[in-house]
Amino acid sequence: MTKLSWGLVGGGAGSQIGPAHRLGAAVDGEFAFVAGALDHRAEEGRFYGRSLGLAPDRAYGDWREMLAGETGRADRVDLVTVATPNATHFEITKAFLEAGFHVLCEKPMTMTVEEGEEIVRIARATGKLCAVNYGYTGYALVRHMRAMVARGDLGRIRLVVAEFAHGHHADAADADNPRVRWRYDPAQAGVSAQFADCGIHAMHMASFVTGQEVETLSADTVSCIESRVLEDDAMVNFRMSGGAVGRLWTSSVAIGRQHGLSLQVFGEKGGLRWAQEQPNQLYWMPLGGRLEVIERGAGGLSPEADRASRVTVGHAEGMPLAFANIYRDMAEAIRAEKDGRAMDPAADLYPRAEDGLRSMAAVFAVAASGKAAGQWTDARPPMFRD
Ligand code: NAD
Repeated sequence: MTKLSWGLVGGGAGSQIGPAHRLGAAVDGEFAFVAGALDHRAEEGRFYGRSLGLAPDRAYGDWREMLAGETGRADRVDLVTVATPNATHFEITKAFLEAGFHVLCEKPMTMTVEEGEEIVRIARATGKLCAVNYGYTGYALVRHMRAMVARGDLGRIRLVVAEFAHGHHADAADADNPRVRWRYDPAQAGVSAQFADCGIHAMHMASFVTGQEVETLSADTVSCIESRVLEDDAMVNFRMSGGAVGRLWTSSVAIGRQHGLSLQVFGEKGGLRWAQEQPNQLYWMPLGGRLEVIERGAGGLSPEADRASRVTVGHAEGMPLAFANIYRDMAEAIRAEKDGRAMDPAADLYPRAEDGLRSMAAVFAVAASGKAAGQWTDARPPMFRD
């Protein structure tokens, strides 16, 4: 089996998310890392690319050079990951899609709903894969939750409770540090800070697991550190397409919370509880039954969870392997397209441009509702309204 080839934009030396992408893409041996424009500074990007083993002519100085260089090659990359700061996602993703590359874009996919709709239209018109890195949906037990809901174990879903609350921006004395301040500056971050950064992961996961879309929401947004223009905490109530009620708390001032992503799903017949910091255990309580701990890697889980597990039960799997599952899904989709066959349904789970667009619509709805004292607001992108 020949490897697919992979290129990375962003993710330079010292970046937060670059290493997780390189690990995730490499784990299964599906992708060879052959091209990159890794840094906003051309020379640093070229140097770092070469230090990671890229050939000198494919360690590019910027993404436009990479686009031109790769477009002209017979062995052009099969997939490009965009892991640059948010405001650049739209133009880089658009350019690579239009040039015929498959793209995995970091979240948030765009800065506006209009840009999100354009990316969806371009992906549909070109037929290229456009995925968005809601990488936490790659955890085996998140996929198992989705499978349990889909096969009816919980019955009708009544309630979803999602959290993504950390405490890493809680120091008021550090709020003016430029590395923190830009995140709460509308000129650089857009209409939302904490919800756009973290809340959308939790909201996307609620949709991924329940198979329902968020239709309307009411948000209470607040800047607990008063000098901040954008919110550092939000409580969002929402209603979903299948009738589920949603509650979501996101915060960056919750001191003592580390990553703080969790999901609880309550149906007519049982409840599920999962937390990203203990991702190898899922708590399942059937109505009238006993609490059961479902261990990742145990026998008899869903095909989706089995496919997403790499090491045997009792050994921890973590975030880079969740990202690896997004890459593995995409490798299967690319190979299925090349071979002209249907893809493995257990792999057809990677988040799409449509998910990125829905998140952008939710970001704008949260910002609008927060300003309007929690007024219930349509959270659907215009192109998905009836
Ligand atoms: P970062 O600031 O740590 O790193 C950004 C990297 O991109 C740097 O190496 C920088 O030099 C490079 N860069 C900037 N502009 C560039 C350009 N025009 N061309 C090429 N390289 C460029 O940022 P980060 O925390 O790694 O975040 C990057 C993206 O990943 C953001 O959109 C963020 O929201 C997202 N992210 C996602 C997750 C997740 O769980 N999916 C987690 C963290 C960050």
